[in-house]
Order: sequence, then C-alpha cells, then structure tokens
Amino acid sequence: MVPFLDLKDVNSRYQPEIEEALLWVARSGKYILGEEVKSFEQSYADYCGVKHCVGTGSGLDALKLILYAYKEMGIMQDGDEVIVPANTYIATILAVSESGLVPVLVEPDIKNYNIDPSFIQNKITSKTKAIMPVHLYGLLSPIDELKGIAQKYDLKIIDDAAQAHGAVYEGKKAGGLFGAAAFSFYPTKNLGALGDAGAVTTNDQQLAGIVRALLNYGSSTRYIADFKGFNSRLDEMQAAILSVKLKYLDQDNLYRRRLASLYLSHIKNEQIILPDVKNNGGHVFHLFVIRNEKRDKLQQYLLDNGIRTQIHYPVPPHKQLAYKEWNKLSFPVTEKIHSEVLSLPLNTAMSENTVIRICNLVNDWS
Ligand SMILES: *Cc1c(COP(=O)(O)O)cnc(C)c1O
Repeated sequence: MVPFLDLKDVNSRYQPEIEEALLWVARSGKYILGEEVKSFEQSYADYCGVKHCVGTGSGLDALKLILYAYKEMGIMQDGDEVIVPANTYIATILAVSESGLVPVLVEPDIKNYNIDPSFIQNKITSKTKAIMPVHLYGLLSPIDELKGIAQKYDLKIIDDAAQAHGAVYEGKKAGGLFGAAAFSFYPTKNLGALGDAGAVTTNDQQLAGIVRALLNYGSSTRYIADFKGFNSRLDEMQAAILSVKLKYLDQDNLYRRRLASLYLSHIKNEQIILPDVKNNGGHVFHLFVIRNEKRDKLQQYLLDNGIRTQIHYPVPPHKQLAYKEWNKLSFPVTEKIHSEVLSLPLNTAMSENTVIRICNLVNDWS
C-alpha cells in the first residue's frame, strides 16, 4: 500500500540531527523562549527575506496574533471585515471570526484554486480592512493584482502562508510578499515540526513587537502586561527541530517540484484536470491536487490498486455546521472544487518510481 504521507519516513532522514538537537535542549535547562527560538526566528526571517520572524504556538495562532496586533494598533476594530477565499482550510476563517472580525468569502479561480481578484472589489465595503489570501496547495496567490486592490482601497494584506514555505515570486519568498504573513509548522507542512508550531513574518517592527508581546500574556517586560494577551509561544524543542529541517527546505521543495513535474508529464488521461502551472515556477507543491467529476470513484479505484489519496477539502467552510449562518449561501466555484478535487501522494519520502506507477494507474482509469 502506498501511504498518502508517512511522517516517520519523511523525518527519518533528519533523525540523527533532530535527536541531537532535542538532547541539547533537554540538557540546557532553558525550555521557554530561549536560544533555540531566537536562533530559529533569525534563520527563518533571513530565509524569508524579512526583518522580523516571531515564533508562535501554531499557524492558527499566528494568523490571529496578526489580527489582534492590528486591532491594538487601531488599524482594525471589532466587526470589521476581512476578505478570505471561500475554499480555504477552515483555520483561515476561524482566525478571522475568533478575532472579533467578520470573514467575507470570495470565490477562487477554478484554474488555480486561489482567490480570484476579479471577485474582490464587489465585496469591499466601508468596513473592509484586509485581504487574507491563502497560497493554497503551495501555489502563490496573484501578488500584483492583490497589491493593486489593497493599494486602491487602503487595505492590509495578511497572507496565510501555511502551505507555501519557500514559494518564490520574482525573487521574493512567501513571508515577505505582503504586510504580514502567517506560517504553520504543523507536521505535514513543507516545513513541519514534530508537534504544533507557527510563525509570523513581517518587515513592520511595531507589528512584530506587539505580536511578540501578545503571545506572551501581552508582556514585553516580565510581569508587566501592556495588552490582554495569550500564551502562544513557540516551543524550544520544536524550534530546535525546525532549525534542523529548515536547512533542507529548499532541497525538499526542489524534490517536490521534481515529483510534481513527473505527475504533470506522465498523466495523459484526458478526463483528469491537472494543476495549472503556467507562470508558476515558485509552486512548492504542498499538495498535488487533480480534479475529476467522478472523484469518489477515482479515489476508490486508486485505493483498490494500493494507493491512498486524500481530499483537501471535502466540505467547503460555508457548508460546515460551525458556520450554520452561511449554510444557505451559494459559492458554485468553491462547491465544484470541493466535490471534484483529489490529492495524490506527493512527499519527500516517495520515490520517482512510485509516482510513475500512480500515473500509469491514473492513465488506465476510465
Ligand atoms: C495548516 C493550516 C493552517 C493552520 O495551521 P495550524 O498550525 O494547524 O494551526 C492555517 N491555514 C492553512 C491554509 C493551513 O493549511
């Protein structure tokens, strides 16, 4: 059986270095906001080409912390609106609503599954304060179009880069493309910890400072609380692991692209809609997502032939019970995507031969 993703296999290549790093932390006597967090923050800021990286407890928290910080800065207030893609992972939307703001859903582009800028302007009201694009599956959202809209309407852009570590646009990496970005280092991500972890990246010193205080009870000085904060610190052990794995991120992304290009060149079945990779040199293929109207049948066929696949995601946010108030809304592009997408296995523990084998199976399907 070909697994969709075997994290034990993925991490086995870094195992000696990870164990050494963990032992070092265990023996250091410093377990919270110590040298490992500081050192990873510096490395990841350098990697993304930004001035500031602030480690957080998770990707969801990183998104929330940015929004809370903008509220503390007086840039947003309760009830303001944030534009999000309607087909994103639920965490993006939760970050907005948990921050006392209102998520406004916008349809994606059916060709690349990212937010469609041409649908944004209609949704802008006097309460709109930000756009939160998501670089879904590892493909960057349309940077220039989004910047143009943000400039015209004086909006912040906060990107959810949880699936796009290392994605590049015109020489700039995700994390340094807009005002502030949030990353997740959930174990399955392109840069994954061995537990929960996240980060905020930005060039805005004030924003970085407030985020840093908010994640530590609102304090920048011990026992002095300037804000009503949280506890969402990046863990020393996770930071040590991330520093090990960051060294291999570009190499890992290159291998992901290699596997993706094999899928793209070997899948010939005309019923299958492949990911659109025009002008997408910087795609980091967090997921390799194909589309077909008979998706469930294709998934069963692949399973019968020993290939595990997944669906990202089976239910759109506006059809979730958690957002009952949206259940009657209609987002046809989003709904079509959710009913047709299928993620094929693509990870750094997979061989090229396995990819070819999957391509042959897909080609034999009718
Ligand atoms: C993983 C993910 C998140 C949430 O990250 P966590 O670290 O699990 O909180 C948010 N947005 C997107 C698009 C994600 O893929």
